[in-house]
Amino acid sequence: MRYSGFRVLKEALTGHKGWKPAWRDPAPKPHYDIVVIGGGGHGLATAYYLAKVFGKANVAVLEKGWIGGGNVGRNTTIVRSNYLLDGNEPFYEFSMKLWEGLEQDFNFNAMISQRGVLNLCHTDAQRDAFRRRGNAMRLNGVDAELLDTEGVRRMAPFLNFESARFPIKGGLLQPRGGTVRHDAVAWGYARGADERGVDILQNCEVTGFRIENGVCKGVETTRGFIGAGTVGVAVAGSSGRVMAKAGMRLPIESHVLQAFVSEGLKPLLPGVITYGAGHFYVSQSDKGGLVFGGDIDGYNSYAQRGNLPVVEDVCEGGMSLMPMIGRAKLLRMWGGIMDMSMDGSPIIDRTDVEGLYFNGGWCYGGFKATPASGWAFAHLLATGTSHETATAYRFDRFRKGLMIDEKGVGAQPNLH
Ligand SMILES: Cc1cc2nc3c(=O)[nH]c(=O)nc-3n(C[C@H](O)[C@H](O)[C@H](O)COP(=O)(O)OP(=O)(O)OC[C@H]3O[C@@H](n4cnc5c(N)ncnc54)[C@H](O)[C@@H]3O)c2cc1C
Repeated sequence: MRYSGFRVLKEALTGHKGWKPAWRDPAPKPHYDIVVIGGGGHGLATAYYLAKVFGKANVAVLEKGWIGGGNVGRNTTIVRSNYLLDGNEPFYEFSMKLWEGLEQDFNFNAMISQRGVLNLCHTDAQRDAFRRRGNAMRLNGVDAELLDTEGVRRMAPFLNFESARFPIKGGLLQPRGGTVRHDAVAWGYARGADERGVDILQNCEVTGFRIENGVCKGVETTRGFIGAGTVGVAVAGSSGRVMAKAGMRLPIESHVLQAFVSEGLKPLLPGVITYGAGHFYVSQSDKGGLVFGGDIDGYNSYAQRGNLPVVEDVCEGGMSLMPMIGRAKLLRMWGGIMDMSMDGSPIIDRTDVEGLYFNGGWCYGGFKATPASGWAFAHLLATGTSHETATAYRFDRFRKGLMIDEKGVGAQPNLH
């Protein structure tokens, strides 16, 4: 079924009796050419591009819960491609270009809103770093504008400009950045993959790998053994736990990250704003809620819930940046499990087990990467070679010292 304005009108006039389930609920087959573990954004996008771009339809996505129940439905919905390093920038810009055509491509309203992402700076040194990053973006053909204090004031007059400790000195703006409705991304990819023959198997947890003579033959699941020619793992915060079942220890730690939504307010924020003197980022949803977040909780955990000290820290960041946020009531908050890599950049690579591939280490930033990650992982699973924008995302960069450390902070997951 194709979705369109005409279809909405027709269904409205005929009692909404014509809508069909957006994807099937098939029984697992005994064998697939390719099995993707993880029904988050990355796993579903991988399946979608495998079917659509690489012509692979005998594919299953195995999800232990329900699709969209992981980080893809828990993030603060920010998309951008404002990176400094060559290993990252072409990949995230590839993703941004895919976002820009995604709704037409998968025929689903994902509410892609390019309202701009503004990173604020509060010191001269920080402005220099932003100038460098903006120039690197422009060298890669990406939009970037350096704003002075007055430029920021014109966009967001409600910010605390005169703070004695952290005056706003300007900001780096990526006008094409913005927000995307996160759960719609999971649903759109799921529907598009299902339409092309992919089986989406929910409530199907992978409990082990069948590996014979160094070759992965399939996976043990709560719905029985499923054979596979190729297995791709895209389980985000569960990466360490799942890959341990194949005998691997990853350069990844799992941490909790929380997100917050205030009560609905009149339209206020022009786009996404990030605070440069603390860790605080905020946007406003179409319903009017301020959607914001900050640092990870700072201890390893697989629990999808956070703790109060970080709530206090995040709210203090918000108060310091825009004091009037203190009058808004907090409506909801939740946590997700982050797969924090040691250099803050992801991994999309083969493993030492033949036929077993890995996608993970997305840290705070994997939502914006969803389309490119899916495409690049599908490329790797279908062709056995890395996509041109993802050649740096290899396991062996940690052994060779070829880190892609965007912030230059070293092997400190909590600082990336
Ligand atoms: C609070 C928060 C805010 C964030 N904000 C942003 C942001 O603004 N912008 C941005 O770019 N990124 C953001 N991120 C990061 C981003 O959401 C993640 O990096 C990204 O969603 C991870 O990829 P995914 O969608 O595939 O993960 P998930 O949706 O977590 O998918 C992984 C899936 O694997 C499944 N799984 C796990 N183990 C198994 C198993 N054994 N068998 C079968 N299935 C299994 C899980 O149930 C899950 O559904 C944020 C994350 C959080 C938590």
